[in-house]
Amino acid sequence: MQARQVIDTRPTAIPAGTLLQHFCGWEIETDTDVFDPTTVTLMDFAPAAVSQPASGDIHFFYVLPFSPRHALVETTHFSPQVSDQDSYTRELRDYLQSRFGLQQWQIRHREQGVIPMPKQTLDLARRRHANIIPMGLHSDTAKASTGYCYPHAQRQALRHVAALFARQDALAVPARSKLSCWFDGVFIDFLEQHPELAGEVFLRLFTAVPSDALIRFLSDRARPDDYLRVMTALPKRLFIRLAYLRAVSA
Ligand SMILES: Cc1cc2nc3c(=O)[nH]c(=O)nc-3n(C[C@H](O)[C@H](O)[C@H](O)COP(=O)(O)OP(=O)(O)OC[C@H]3O[C@@H](n4cnc5c(N)ncnc54)[C@H](O)[C@@H]3O)c2cc1C
Repeated sequence: MQARQVIDTRPTAIPAGTLLQHFCGWEIETDTDVFDPTTVTLMDFAPAAVSQPASGDIHFFYVLPFSPRHALVETTHFSPQVSDQDSYTRELRDYLQSRFGLQQWQIRHREQGVIPMPKQTLDLARRRHANIIPMGLHSDTAKASTGYCYPHAQRQALRHVAALFARQDALAVPARSKLSCWFDGVFIDFLEQHPELAGEVFLRLFTAVPSDALIRFLSDRARPDDYLRVMTALPKRLFIRLAYLRAVSA
């Protein structure tokens, strides 16, 4: 079989020193009503009794309830080193006990992953082979500052299909604009250099920026006024310095 172009989503080695989003989740069922199915907890920076992150480690929990007795609970870290299985287990167990007062639960499903958060994603224009197009987690598809891949992968694939229908030798379609990649780089600089401020800055973003504007920003569909709202919600001096340093190092 022959093809003019190949889309390559095979994993590649993650360069040493890259910030990693690594997580472990349990989908659990309980015998009593515990969860509020109307509320998703995106980031719970748990108390010190539950979470004692090493220096440079950003640690939070994610809770997605499906019903009062059924939820996906994840322990997530942003750090350059992945944790061992025992640490994930201890974190999830301590969190379920202290946050929800649970002593027992049934694990229905486990998931675990490592998502690279590079400050500079692959530039598709500089790929090694013209007709082999890298896409997915190890290309430019995932939004590096969040690790979200699915919505960006769907949009990139649709745009690439449209380009191929227009021209059989269509060029590779990047997942996002240079501006958006630059914002990601500045934010990852912040996470690496000031992990102790991460909880406060995420809280500012989620409280000070209207949710529709923040969703557009996080899904790379931001309008100019959304960028303005996000920028005014962040600690200005710190982010201006990081943005300046990133611009001069580019
Ligand atoms: C547990 C988990 C949950 C996630 N949840 C979300 C989420 O809710 N939302 C979100 O946006 N992102 C999420 N992600 C991140 C990301 O969206 C997924 O990892 C996504 O599947 C990445 O797509 P991909 O094509 O890059 O990699 P993959 O889906 O891993 O695809 C790579 C493929 O390459 C194949 N392969 C590997 N080596 C070879 C080889 N040598 N030759 C041929 N084939 C090979 C593999 O079998 C696999 O099918 C999650 C990741 C994980 C691990």
